Amino acid sequence: MEHIIKGLPKAELHIHTLGSIRLGTLLAVIDDAGIDAPFESVEDIEELFQYRNFTHFISVYSQVVDCITNESHFERIVLEMLEDCARCNVRYVEASFSAYDHIERGMEFPAMVDALNRGIRKAKRQFGVESNIRIDLVRNAGPDAGMSVLDLIEEKPDNIVSVDIGGSEDKVPPKPFAPVYQRAKQMGLHLVAHAGEAAGPQSIWDALNHLNVERIGHGVTAREDPELMKHLKDKKIAIEMCPVSNVRTGVVSDIASHPIRQFFDSGLLVTVNSDDPSFFHTDLNNEFTQLHRHLDFSLEELFQISLNSINVSFLPRQRKVELRDSFEREYEQLGPL
Ligand SMILES: [Zn+2]
Repeated sequence: MEHIIKGLPKAELHIHTLGSIRLGTLLAVIDDAGIDAPFESVEDIEELFQYRNFTHFISVYSQVVDCITNESHFERIVLEMLEDCARCNVRYVEASFSAYDHIERGMEFPAMVDALNRGIRKAKRQFGVESNIRIDLVRNAGPDAGMSVLDLIEEKPDNIVSVDIGGSEDKVPPKPFAPVYQRAKQMGLHLVAHAGEAAGPQSIWDALNHLNVERIGHGVTAREDPELMKHLKDKKIAIEMCPVSNVRTGVVSDIASHPIRQFFDSGLLVTVNSDDPSFFHTDLNNEFTQLHRHLDFSLEELFQISLNSINVSFLPRQRKVELRDSFEREYEQLGPL
């Protein structure tokens, strides 16, 4: 069964580059920089990566951000992330990058983007995975910082397809980012926001009404609002769901009670993603397997989720057609689940 799920062609639309850092690489990066870190071994990191709640997760994430001290580290981090994706038969990735976190710590945006693109090009050659970059504007830094990152993207737009806001959704609502999103749209960037993960349905409404987002990251709390569910369906707003992440940060109690089954059955445009695979000890094979085991998703339904990801991706129309065709061909070769 897991062998068949592994063979399904897939796409990752919501995966954070730093959240994918291999633990060994994190230790190597710390060693390289000669800095004092709150962990010295893989066991230490695994212990640190047990979260009490969403706020605790954000604080642990920030400790890892502190460990990255050189722009060139991102080449290795993204290359290894894409190698791990390829192992799950992922063919297309929108790699989220929280640039401002690192700018704040003294790093240069153009050098980071170049490092990411070197890793992306190598991954395409070595593993056949195709990727674009989505920039998380880091909502905790506020809208002015968001504008400053847009200035940088304008100067260095290489392979960047969208903007997003991730972070402490409960403390920083979407509305003040409206002018930032308006400008991003004028720049030709696609629009996404984390919403309905650590805050209620109003946060999703605000992301839709004030930021005009095309996709919602997480969207879990939409289940509390039937009118919102209908709106998401009618407007064909895609939801980037991250089931294992939601269990690990305590947003839902277990996979069996995750609303993805309800969303899928209600006809919402659902995609499945691993969010921060290293931090949550998951990957896309595991996400799909959990859905099969605990929420009874059939192979056909899982394949529909893969196709949804291609359909709502920020790839050019023709590339979507080509990928869909190759996915269909691969799917026909798979045996029954
Ligand atoms: Zn995320």
